[in-house]
Amino acid sequence: MSWSEYRRAVAGQVPVFPVADAYESGVVPIRFSGWPLSQQAPAYPALDQDIAADVVVVGAGLAGASLALRLAENGVRVVVLEADQPGSGASGRNAGHVQPYLASFAPLRAHADQGRRFTEYFVEHRDIVFDLCRKHGLEADAAKSGMVDAACRRHGALEDKVKRWKDFGYDLDLVGAEQLRELLGTDAYSHGIHWREGGRVNPYLFTNGMIAAAIGLGARVHGNSCVQACEPNGASWRVRTATGSVVAQQVVICTNGHAGNAFFPELARTQFPLVACGMATRPLSRDVLDIVNPARVTLMQYPAGLYPLIIDGRDRLITATIPGVGRAQRAADHFAYFLRYLRRTYPQLGDARIELESYWTGMTANSSSDYEASYPKLYRVADGVLALINFGSWGNVMGPMMGTNLADALAGDRFQDCLLPLETPKAVQFPGLFETKIRRVLIPAARLADRLNLV
Ligand SMILES: Cc1cc2nc3c(=O)[nH]c(=O)nc-3n(C[C@H](O)[C@H](O)[C@H](O)COP(=O)(O)OP(=O)(O)OC[C@H]3O[C@@H](n4cnc5c(N)ncnc54)[C@H](O)[C@@H]3O)c2cc1C
Repeated sequence: MSWSEYRRAVAGQVPVFPVADAYESGVVPIRFSGWPLSQQAPAYPALDQDIAADVVVVGAGLAGASLALRLAENGVRVVVLEADQPGSGASGRNAGHVQPYLASFAPLRAHADQGRRFTEYFVEHRDIVFDLCRKHGLEADAAKSGMVDAACRRHGALEDKVKRWKDFGYDLDLVGAEQLRELLGTDAYSHGIHWREGGRVNPYLFTNGMIAAAIGLGARVHGNSCVQACEPNGASWRVRTATGSVVAQQVVICTNGHAGNAFFPELARTQFPLVACGMATRPLSRDVLDIVNPARVTLMQYPAGLYPLIIDGRDRLITATIPGVGRAQRAADHFAYFLRYLRRTYPQLGDARIELESYWTGMTANSSSDYEASYPKLYRVADGVLALINFGSWGNVMGPMMGTNLADALAGDRFQDCLLPLETPKAVQFPGLFETKIRRVLIPAARLADRLNLV
């Protein structure tokens, strides 16, 4: 089948939000994401009074939810204010990969100790997603099913990666064609890494689970409570929404890439935005499940990673990619690319039915124009106001890890325990260039190389 035949077959299958710009800016309503489909989370009421707390957390994504949970566990009075509902931002729209490794060590060179403490903490807490689910009984379809980097030829970088992470005590190996066939069910790859760590999670349920657990431990959470102002109030801050306010000594902003906030606009200039899209198929038939990815690992193609995939607890294939400029709303195109890859990788699928259930987009906020070097940032915006933002594409593990670490530092009044250096917001240069580079150059080139079998 040609790409245009795939496209015709898919067109009209999925619900589409009628505003194309909403796809470009990653703000299609969260109900279009494939993740809430499995379970609707509660809607938290808007703040409608003036109250007080020790800490106000602005934004209930993976960062804000984990921060609030850990603060509540530490006995801190915490109030969370969320513009929409928990998990409505990038956290309810991501690809569900739990990657327990660092893609680049370069940003650690800026740490006072060259990142020694950060790396030790990261390695020790690499199972944080699964640990939090277990500890708080969160039902987030989390599975430590492992990961595979799969390549069509030998890459020295994969060998270096195995050596480096083995030295940290990770359970992973270089694998060849035979093991890859067993794990993935395809002959398409000849070299790779099998990580017996990491896996998948439903990030929307995970975020909402952390919020529910925080409430259970005494936190207050308000949805539909967009923060409009953050004003000094004696030695504290008054954080205002349209219908109420919270006075607290400490404010932590966890709003990720949501620019346009009237308060502390300098934060929006610290990031390189990049839109990404996600897709979920309808639950697969038994025949297809027997063929595709029988080990149920999180699969990433190396080096381009154009069609990363997981199979979730509802037996759906879920993938994510970066759309070309002006093409973010084209669900049929992106699903057609994915299907073509899938049928080429698994010719035994024949014409088995694989249908699209949902298509959505979301914004990532990156601290670096080098995709892999995008580490989260901890900013000191003013005395008593911090921002924990810019998680790039690495929020599932980094979000709860940095949220938990910051909560412990705040609760113990020990800023020296923060893993991230405390920085002053600094505008990045040419914020649009990163998106242009990836969407106009790298992705189209990678698709072409993939099509011509040049990877
Ligand atoms: C398509 C896609 C695929 C991805 N895949 C992966 C992956 O596989 N693995 C991975 O680890 N990461 C992945 N990511 C990245 C990951 O989702 C993010 O790094 C992570 O969700 C960031 O979490 P956060 O809490 O910082 O931000 P968000 O989840 O965006 O939360 C910010 C919250 O702040 C709220 N807010 C904004 N302004 C205000 C205001 N004024 N008042 C109150 N609330 C406000 C928003 O409504 C939002 O809920 C992906 C992202 C996308 C978009």
